[in-house]
Amino acid sequence: MTFKELELIPSILQSLQEEGYERPTPIQTQAIPAALHGRDVLGGAQTGTGKTAAFAIPVIQQIVKNSERNADQKNPLALIVTPTRELAIQIGESFNIYGKYTPVKSTVIFGGVKQNAQTQALRRRPQVVIATPGRLLDLLDQEFIRLTDIQYFVLDEADRMLDMGFINDIKRIIKLLPRKRQSLFFSATMPKKILKLSQEILYKPKRVEVTPVSSTAETITQKLYTTNRKLKLKLLLYLLEDPDMDQVLVFSRTKRGADRIVKDLRKNKIECGAIHGDKSQHQRQRALNEFKESRIRLLVATDIAARGIDIDKLKYVINYDVPNESETYVHRIGRCGRAGEEGLSISLCEPEENAYVLDIEKLIGQKIEVVHDHPFPQTDKPMTAEEKKEFEREKQKRKREFFANRNKKRQQGGTNSGRKRGKKNSSRR
Ligand code: AMP
Repeated sequence: MTFKELELIPSILQSLQEEGYERPTPIQTQAIPAALHGRDVLGGAQTGTGKTAAFAIPVIQQIVKNSERNADQKNPLALIVTPTRELAIQIGESFNIYGKYTPVKSTVIFGGVKQNAQTQALRRRPQVVIATPGRLLDLLDQEFIRLTDIQYFVLDEADRMLDMGFINDIKRIIKLLPRKRQSLFFSATMPKKILKLSQEILYKPKRVEVTPVSSTAETITQKLYTTNRKLKLKLLLYLLEDPDMDQVLVFSRTKRGADRIVKDLRKNKIECGAIHGDKSQHQRQRALNEFKESRIRLLVATDIAARGIDIDKLKYVINYDVPNESETYVHRIGRCGRAGEEGLSISLCEPEENAYVLDIEKLIGQKIEVVHDHPFPQTDKPMTAEEKKEFEREKQKRKREFFANRNKKRQQGGTNSGRKRGKKNSSRR
């Protein structure tokens, strides 16, 4: 199957050719024709499968084709809702790339930065708006944006959206959309609550699915280095002695952990940066750009901050800790080995994390190769009482951080326009 056979317009074909896309990925082959025929789509696809193009291309093409009908367009015609700022920015970049030779203009709106630049961009009447839920609702409440003319609605990473507590925001947004519209719904996993939400949004959707979250790309080699907590930094430094590891994404479960890794690595003269929820949008974007442009060798990220970030040709992912949620593992290692490139993921496993590995292996249906032969192997020595306490403290802290963050996000979502929104907003606080 070629892009031409998908009956794409020449202006889009040209940009895809320039991007070096030779043929559509499976999710694109399935989703694009259905979407171009105006059907709703329920897409089971994680990042790395080419899902952004699977929804962006049909949206752009349909807007171009209907441009006469929408000649007097004042309000946006397409709305893409996605859980994180990083994803929103990336989707915005994709729209710019695929729509480069079309008159379709898009803008990105997300929280954590002042809204002025975003409201000004909205005044330029983009046809496509890519948004995170909180800021979108703020701007709606302040009447900087109207959804009355939306013809195409995309909900991206629906499962993560629910995990992050956005369900009520999503439901509010959906109520503001015209009933007559096309909706494209993407989620890496399809548990019951996601299917239920999809039924509230979609009309007779075409269901398309590729690589469910339980499967890891065949192009990724996975290795597990067993060690002890106190030896992890040394082990990481040992791994980084390999000069091939010139661009490595390191995952840490906690923000504090990420900062500590960065501090320790810098002490060892390794250039690195961190992205996590306590960093400003500007700091995160700067670190991400420096990493993409190879000005820093390592990027240390927490799971939510790294969600969906797309680093072209990334080869190495290191899990400084083994995630206790197996699906998180699949998401993490999916950052490398994309679009057919080779990838290597290395997980540093301390004794307390051995059980998580078993869960992960169950989910992905394969054993992860264990490397024992290295200078910092796991000893069977159980944790000392103090280490156990610290482990528990860390666990409790993680829980508190998660809820505190969620509450903070909700409160922030309400502060800008609280006065205007009044009582209606109380559910989001
Ligand atoms: P996504 O799943 O949307 O995050 O896309 C993952 C990566 O695949 C991005 O770097 C895209 O630029 C790239 N990509 C998407 N579609 C194609 C394609 N048909 N051929 C080659 N690369 C692609």
